[in-house]
Amino acid sequence: MIRTRFAPSPTGYLHLGGARTAIFSWAYARRHGGQFILRIEDTDLERSTQPSVQAILDGMAWLGLDCDEGPYYQMQRVARYKVAAEQLLKDGKAYYCYCSKEELNVMRESQRARGDKPRYDGRWRDSKEIPPTGVAPVIRFKNPLSGEVSWDDEVKGQITIANGELDDLVIMRTDGVPTYNFGVVIDDIDMSITNVIRGDDHVNNTPRQINIYKALGAPVPKFAHVPMILGSDGERLSKRHGAVSVMQYRDDGFLPEALVNYLARLGWSHGDAEKFSRDELIEWFDLAHISKSPARFDPEKLLWLNQQYIRQADTARLAELTRPFLAADGCDTSDGPPLNDVIALFRDRASTIRELADGSVFFYRKLQPSAALREKFYTTDVRPALVDLQGRFAAAVWNRAAINDAIKGVVAAHGLKMPKVAMPLRVMVTGATHTPSIDATLELIGQQRVLARMAAELAHFPG
Ligand code: GLU
Repeated sequence: MIRTRFAPSPTGYLHLGGARTAIFSWAYARRHGGQFILRIEDTDLERSTQPSVQAILDGMAWLGLDCDEGPYYQMQRVARYKVAAEQLLKDGKAYYCYCSKEELNVMRESQRARGDKPRYDGRWRDSKEIPPTGVAPVIRFKNPLSGEVSWDDEVKGQITIANGELDDLVIMRTDGVPTYNFGVVIDDIDMSITNVIRGDDHVNNTPRQINIYKALGAPVPKFAHVPMILGSDGERLSKRHGAVSVMQYRDDGFLPEALVNYLARLGWSHGDAEKFSRDELIEWFDLAHISKSPARFDPEKLLWLNQQYIRQADTARLAELTRPFLAADGCDTSDGPPLNDVIALFRDRASTIRELADGSVFFYRKLQPSAALREKFYTTDVRPALVDLQGRFAAAVWNRAAINDAIKGVVAAHGLKMPKVAMPLRVMVTGATHTPSIDATLELIGQQRVLARMAAELAHFPG
């Protein structure tokens, strides 16, 4: 059975690159009727935090990347790594190294001075020296001295590294915590991972890891190293390019299905399909069509996709997603028109839930027009028409047709052009110049509120 995993280090939020790796691993497992495992690699005690763990779990849940097992936590498995390291020691495939930090620094410095690549020189590998007292040793892996390591990467093709390039890496620190390269191998073995799909920043670690698999006599999984994501300027995607945290996209009003679709398509393709459902992704996903070159993040395209998904979303769902945004803006939707009706009025024009929220506020709360708008539209010549309109509105049976009749009646009676009346009316009632059709907008806002807002704004007319 295919088993994949996502193994983030909880040292920050879940970022777009991590989320994309997770999507690929998840989709591959789902495509093959396999299983997807979540593992939190929290062995970096200084940088791992609980809020970050939570951010990862929240991000995965929001994106709908359900796992079949986990989350596992590496720090809950340290006893297991200890046993594995002891086995390697017993088999003569690992050894204690008593080098102090200073000693290692001196080693590196002299290598650099000679123009060599800094690396551990293996001085404790076969040492018969008596270990110094009072020094807590690390455990190092005995990397083979000759031969080469080779694997057929499912994205990058055949990769071969000479063992002579690799030094004896630390697998257990003095505090008994495993290093990344050791923990990851033990876990991937114990969790029966068949396919390791991860960022290509780990390509350099893979030959070391393969040697550890071999030393343990364990089957080596298949590897697929996914190229990174670049910003529009060709630099590695970072905060400079805008939001990179998955949850920031939720907070900015993106739909999870839009982000999943966008990220899945980023560096992977299925013909010329740009928009595809979760089911299609599962049906189509393969490793063969992951691009060998880095993908470029395009915020405009993500926004476009989000708009497409908003268009097809159920209005009631959009309303439920919009409500918390309004609440955060201090806008109480229980007092006013049904949010469903408000959203239905202009949902086709919105690209994000944030825009739906921003466009809904004036249905619940009077928004103060800016001084510039008042100055532009509140003119002496139109005032009598608006006072007249106020009277007609007060007498109307409040519905779209009656609102329209009243406006048209005023336009005719005062010999004005439609915009001359409609624009100040809009500004008075909504505080804005762009709104859905004025009759539908006013109908929803409600007769009493419209009249109150008109009265308040008439006071701001000159003269
Ligand atoms: N914890 C590693 C990271 O976040 C995982 C790498 C891997 O998937 O092996 O980069």
